[in-house]
Amino acid sequence: MDRIAHLLARSAELQSYMTDIRRSLHRFPETGWLEMRTSALIAKELTQMGYEVITGRAVCLDGARMGVPDESETKRHLERVLAHGCEAEYLTQDMREGFTGVIGVLRCGEGKTVALRFDIDALGMQEWPDDTHRPTREGFASVIPGKMHACGHDAHAAIGLGTAKILAGMKEALHGTVKLIFQPGEEGARGAKAIVAAGHLDDADVFIGSHVAPTDSLDDGDVTPGTYGSLATTKYDVKFTGLAAHAGGYPERGRNALLAAASAALSLHAIPRHSEGQSRINVGTLHAGTGRNVIPDEALMQIEVRGETTEINSFVAASAEAVCRGAAAMYGCGVSITKMGEAEGQHSDEALITRIADVVRRDLPHLSVSSIENAKNWGSEDISVMMNRVQEHGGLATYMRVMTPMAGAQHTVKFDFDEDVLKKGAQVFCAAVLDVLA
Ligand SMILES: [Zn+2]
Repeated sequence: MDRIAHLLARSAELQSYMTDIRRSLHRFPETGWLEMRTSALIAKELTQMGYEVITGRAVCLDGARMGVPDESETKRHLERVLAHGCEAEYLTQDMREGFTGVIGVLRCGEGKTVALRFDIDALGMQEWPDDTHRPTREGFASVIPGKMHACGHDAHAAIGLGTAKILAGMKEALHGTVKLIFQPGEEGARGAKAIVAAGHLDDADVFIGSHVAPTDSLDDGDVTPGTYGSLATTKYDVKFTGLAAHAGGYPERGRNALLAAASAALSLHAIPRHSEGQSRINVGTLHAGTGRNVIPDEALMQIEVRGETTEINSFVAASAEAVCRGAAAMYGCGVSITKMGEAEGQHSDEALITRIADVVRRDLPHLSVSSIENAKNWGSEDISVMMNRVQEHGGLATYMRVMTPMAGAQHTVKFDFDEDVLKKGAQVFCAAVLDVLA
């Protein structure tokens, strides 16, 4: 059987394997740096397929992880994982401490290195509870209150494992190295930077990631082989610290952290636009104060900035930090500014986009390529940090979209998708890897 016929036959056989994985992850959604059960499951599968498996602190550089939940939340989640049941043998001590994410390496002799990225984290939202929602109706809705796979990263992880299985079975046909990166903490742009900081993208000649996307979007095919323009972004937690005092008795002794934060909130939205492209700023939350008659001694603000390019984002980010420091000084307060997430500007390489489009047309003629092969992205994506590292050292990178009918929009409580996309996604990744490494 020729290699493409083999790939198609295997992907069809693995549809139920990938569906089972997807549903298992969907049922137990884990948010950034808590993907413990998810990581243990992926580590087990990759080990059994014969991959070299990297886990724990070797995946994400300690200190480069952003937006890490506090220790008590991590402990609480671990207890939930152990109570629910998991691949305990593969749940390493590092994973138990929140060092999640898994990398699988398949060495197939001399040749190029192809790295593929699959994100694995869920969102903090409550899944729709009644039978109009298929995951509820068919018994695989989230069992964790307030958490849900509503962006399709359960699909991405399942596609990654399906891809892993197909490629491991075709090792003889490959010349080079396949590196499968199962990334934690994509939501909030928290995880990619720590993987890049650990050096995992330094040797990638070709790098491909993808996201499932709705068929009713601008993309008119099954596959859009390239995207560009996701916004660079920086997320901050800003804490203003003042001094409490009796509001009636000795107001002059207080330092009002609430006013510092409120003043910062207004001034942040007054940061100038940038002549070279779009920018954004949002003060998303502001919590301050303890009582009506107390000068507020603490205020916590969650903000984010975005820019069309990394440079524009840096301009807004630097201005935002200056505004927060200035507002704190004005009220005699202290301020601490913590970076909670970061993504960069992003573009896909023309040569790789064309190559994947050609591969799909030639090897997967049952799938269509979108008429716009390099489409604009919305929002922000920290895959940009990985792509930029690969491109910096001369490698080629692309971020694709694979289309599927969806019930409910992404990041909403009724989100679901046609699981046929699992097979489709694995086919595109495998055909691309075969083309580069055959
Ligand atoms: Zn997503």
